[in-house]
Amino acid sequence: MVRTDISLVELSDSQEIAALLASQPQPQRPPTTPRARLSTRSGRRHRCQCGGCPACAENARWDKIFNEKFADPNYYKAQPIRHTSSLSWPPR
Ligand SMILES: [Zn+2]
Repeated sequence: MVRTDISLVELSDSQEIAALLASQPQPQRPPTTPRARLSTRSGRRHRCQCGGCPACAENARWDKIFNEKFADPNYYKAQPIRHTSSLSWPPR
C-alpha cells in the first residue's frame, strides 16, 4: 500500500506541475519593430535637383536670398589672416 501511495503522490505532483507550467504565460519577446525612422531620414537626406518642382523653386529662392544677404564677395580673395589675438603686443 505504501508503494501505491507514493506513485499516486508522484502522479499528482507531476500533473500539478504540468498544470502550473501550462497556466504560466510563456515569456515571449515583442516582435522587433522595423526601424522606419532610418528609412525616412535617408529619404530626406538629398534634396531634389530637378529644378522644376515647387521644392526646387523654394530652394532656389532661398539660395538667392541668402546669397544677396550674406554672401561675401571677398570670401575667395586672398586675405591676410591674423592668427594672433587682437590683444597681443606688438601687433603684427
Ligand atoms: Zn525638384
